[in-house]
Amino acid sequence: MKNIYSNIFSFNKKILHKCITNLKRGNVVGMPTETVYGLGGNAYSKLAVQKIYRLKKRPKKNPLIVHYLNYKDADKDVIFNRDFYKLYKKFCPGPITFVLRKKNKSKIQSLVTAKLNTVAIRFPSHKTTRLVLKKLNFPLAMPSANLSSGISPVNAQDVSEEFNKKIKIIINSGNSKIGIESTVVSLIGKPKILRPGIIGAKTIKKILKISIFKKSSKIRSPGMLKKHYSPGIPVILNKKRAEKNCALITFGKKYENKTNYFNLSKKSDLKEAASNLYKTFRKIKKQGFKKIFVVKIPNVDEGIAINDRLKRAAY
Ligand code: AMP
Ligand code: MG
Repeated sequence: MKNIYSNIFSFNKKILHKCITNLKRGNVVGMPTETVYGLGGNAYSKLAVQKIYRLKKRPKKNPLIVHYLNYKDADKDVIFNRDFYKLYKKFCPGPITFVLRKKNKSKIQSLVTAKLNTVAIRFPSHKTTRLVLKKLNFPLAMPSANLSSGISPVNAQDVSEEFNKKIKIIINSGNSKIGIESTVVSLIGKPKILRPGIIGAKTIKKILKISIFKKSSKIRSPGMLKKHYSPGIPVILNKKRAEKNCALITFGKKYENKTNYFNLSKKSDLKEAASNLYKTFRKIKKQGFKKIFVVKIPNVDEGIAINDRLKRAAY
């Protein structure tokens, strides 16, 4: 079969080298992580960061997450505190992002942080991402590899289809294991969850006191837009059935197999449901359905992160 995705490459030494060369030149690369696929570029390079915003059509006021191999690499850019060390020790590398104060002498481009004096940092656990980061002497600004306000890609084909041939290299590593974006935690002042994720409030609360972001909060998190994660067709929540010619996203074993039914997890496993969410959105869209109805998803544990994405998709 002809490979129609000429910009997708399996990971090997040669592609690692090509990827590093491109990143050093200020180009951007599509990369797997354990959460979703990212569009990575040198966080210290204005050229690279501008490319990311341009490709994604991302509003300049929405800051990017900066990715490091470990906390030692991040030390030159951010001011750590006790809460950070506690969470780092427990969850890193992994699907959690920390908002901290930026050091004055940091070389992170002001565009990356939308001119804020804070910066969001993450330490991905994906083997491939880590091999790339190990070879670089700069961190990667890396948002999800999709057009702004759309749904995140969970495999290399998704990335290729988002940007057509505008990205020269996408590293293929199958489906992202987690399938939704990282938990974002602000550690400035009282710790707050800005974006729920697979690592939930209940788990974090075992380590430190934390509250949930409310719109009234003084913390600025410009990316927490009401409309986001949109599959491009209407999404209607908490319904038991779909209208004619529409799709129904289900959860649990009580739903039968119908051609317009898409089950996130037959065994009612919320983690599995999260990993299937964006994949299912894309599948439904490709099959030409005009609307997506979604049954009620339990709002506990990982379900909190799923409902956060669904609410924004439906906005
Ligand atoms: P995404 O790139 O789509 O995964 O989104 C990154 C999220 O992190 C956005 O919702 C941003 O608002 C948030 N974020 C990034 N940098 C900061 C920052 N310095 N302060 C607060 N939130 C941030
Ligand atoms: Mg995104």
